[in-house]
Amino acid sequence: MTSLLITNAAVFDAAIGREGRDVTPTDVAVVDGEIVAVGPDARTAAEFDEVVDAGGRVVIPGLINAHLHSNQTLEAGLCDELPLDAYLVLASYGGAGARFSPHELGLSAKVGALDMLLGGTTSVVDCARSDDEWFADGMDAVCQAYADLGIRAGVAAQYSDLDYMSSIPGWLIDGSHTAGVPRLSVDEVMGPVGAFVTRWSSRTPLVRPMLGPSSLPRCSVELFESSVELSRGSGVPLQTHLLSASGQVEVARQRYAGSTVGFLEKVGALEATSSFAHAIWLDPREIGIMAEHAAVAVHNPASNLKLSAGLAPIPDLLAAGAPVALGSDGASSNDSLNMFETLKLSALVQRVRGPLAPSPKALDALEMLWDGGRAVLGQPVGRIAPGYRADLVILDRLRFSPGPAAQIANQLVFAELGQSVEDVYVDGRRLVAGRQLVGVDEAAIRDEAREVRERLWAGLPERLQRFEERRPFLESLEASLAGIELDFARYWS
Ligand SMILES: [Zn+2]
Repeated sequence: MTSLLITNAAVFDAAIGREGRDVTPTDVAVVDGEIVAVGPDARTAAEFDEVVDAGGRVVIPGLINAHLHSNQTLEAGLCDELPLDAYLVLASYGGAGARFSPHELGLSAKVGALDMLLGGTTSVVDCARSDDEWFADGMDAVCQAYADLGIRAGVAAQYSDLDYMSSIPGWLIDGSHTAGVPRLSVDEVMGPVGAFVTRWSSRTPLVRPMLGPSSLPRCSVELFESSVELSRGSGVPLQTHLLSASGQVEVARQRYAGSTVGFLEKVGALEATSSFAHAIWLDPREIGIMAEHAAVAVHNPASNLKLSAGLAPIPDLLAAGAPVALGSDGASSNDSLNMFETLKLSALVQRVRGPLAPSPKALDALEMLWDGGRAVLGQPVGRIAPGYRADLVILDRLRFSPGPAAQIANQLVFAELGQSVEDVYVDGRRLVAGRQLVGVDEAAIRDEAREVRERLWAGLPERLQRFEERRPFLESLEASLAGIELDFARYWS
């Protein structure tokens, strides 16, 4: 048994914010990584191995990043604005992406985790992609990277059975184009995925496997149904991308004879253990169905803005009672993994619609971050109360003061980018002390990452050449979707 008492801690979370009471210093008792008592009586909860005086500093739950792609972390800065379908060609699986070895995938995950821990993020949901050729080793390297650093992670292995061209409505350009034939059988895909789930299900409580059927358009109906079946049977959470580009509405029309969310409902995918990244192009009926099933949408405002992908109907989802979480998305479409930045954008982006349109307020944004994130992970995190895991962030006393809850909420959402994060605990273990990672050779990791990045940039001209081969098709597609002429050349200037 390990036990920790944090004294003199001005505890703030979204529930305290909703109560609207002043935040004043108190004590937090942690036993074996779980918060067992908060308040003046916490001192009597156990015999403590360690006592830490927080010195009256504000303590919040660790931030939760409910959607990212760790394989993109070393590619931050890859491109400027590109429509999603074109971005995927360059950054991911569409023909001009980089290929990372298992070791490089692990390194990329580590670099992202370091940045996130130092910025106060303690839980991640990583839709990690590995080359099919070394899927098992790639996924193991990513999971091991998180286990080595001690961050909490759900790793949703990305998989699919349809090629890139099947994920876009090519028939708008070329009448002969159809949804395509799966390149692998369902068993060929799900065999390694099932083995991954088995390998990591009980290896460490902090790193858990998830299912990541890449996106609806990239999975055959049979593969998606098989994924839902495995998730329901095993309780392993599932995350996929939902309607992240307007063209996918067209794909749904062809493949599901209508609504993607209707298809999800029909196959039983709308469970509380399922989460859906982006959920931009939902119609009002689909929003109602999401809410009815408590399926979580994961909002990625920075990525959506950067790729001009559309404004997700977050106020409508929240008004309907649907849970919403927050994610950074991958570092080549954001390009940072800073969850304070995402938090702020989630509150602000809806306000472009004017003062009369509803928009999330600071506490709504914090609830998306912590409560929505908890729903995606399926673990008791995101609150500072008995029964929750001790994922805690202690903030600089010179920048944050105990006081009115509303002002702390506003300051967290609108004035913070992680510069006040001093100490970070995951599961009661201190991983960041005085803004420094504990027991990690950060310089060595970053130096190795620098070498990989230099190689990546050296290989970029060849990738851009491959991108050029698809460019006329992609431009025609975007033009037909938008009803306008497009020239991607402007994105490179
Ligand atoms: Zn994504």
